[in-house]
Amino acid sequence: MSLAEITARIRAAETEAGRSPGTTELIAVSKVQPLERVEAVLQEGHRVFGENRVQEAAGKWPGLQDTHGACSLHLLGPLQSNKARQAMELFQVIHSLDRPKLAKAFARLAQETGACPDLFIQVNTGEEPQKAGVLPADLDAFVAECRGMDLPLVGLMCIPPVEEEASLHFALLAKMAARNGLEGLSMGMSGDFEKAISFGATHVRVGSAIFGERVPG
Ligand SMILES: *Cc1c(COP(=O)(O)O)cnc(C)c1O
Repeated sequence: MSLAEITARIRAAETEAGRSPGTTELIAVSKVQPLERVEAVLQEGHRVFGENRVQEAAGKWPGLQDTHGACSLHLLGPLQSNKARQAMELFQVIHSLDRPKLAKAFARLAQETGACPDLFIQVNTGEEPQKAGVLPADLDAFVAECRGMDLPLVGLMCIPPVEEEASLHFALLAKMAARNGLEGLSMGMSGDFEKAISFGATHVRVGSAIFGERVPG
């Protein structure tokens, strides 16, 4: 689907939900896509991209930005604290803050450099053992801990379990964000971004619907 079609569907979903057009940020998820597909989307003028891995992003985005100009880069995948410095140099926004050790790494780096990416806390709303994210019951304490470190927290992120109704998870994430005074809601992917917008998503992460199926390897 073209970028223009996705954008039109986002605008329609905003209107349907009684929201102002333009209140949802589209993150084009370019992980493992061939470079020419990414360049095509850059040529259409899009400048907000998401990646899953620091290493992969570090291999392509400095060059792409040299050619096409600065982009807003969002890290969506799990992050080891020993890669926090590299992540911070590359990404403007991190969606996968999920534990105190990583929060402390960012707090130290922020002290040292005077800068820090915007941070979303990933919440494991489905309480899936294999999935990253803070458990819902631990969220409020973790938010308070991050605020105690003066971190720039902007919102919450979730990836609903594939076999469950996503709406329940979007509603839960919105409720937890409101309770904690957080405005950002990073939720919704290719299959459910319109639904996520109806539950208040401020950032949708859309990969395959824009770029086509990911080519493995
Ligand atoms: C890959 C990925 C996406 C995009 O998934 P699509 O189904 O291709 O839109 C969104 N969020 C995260 C965290 C991802 O890893």
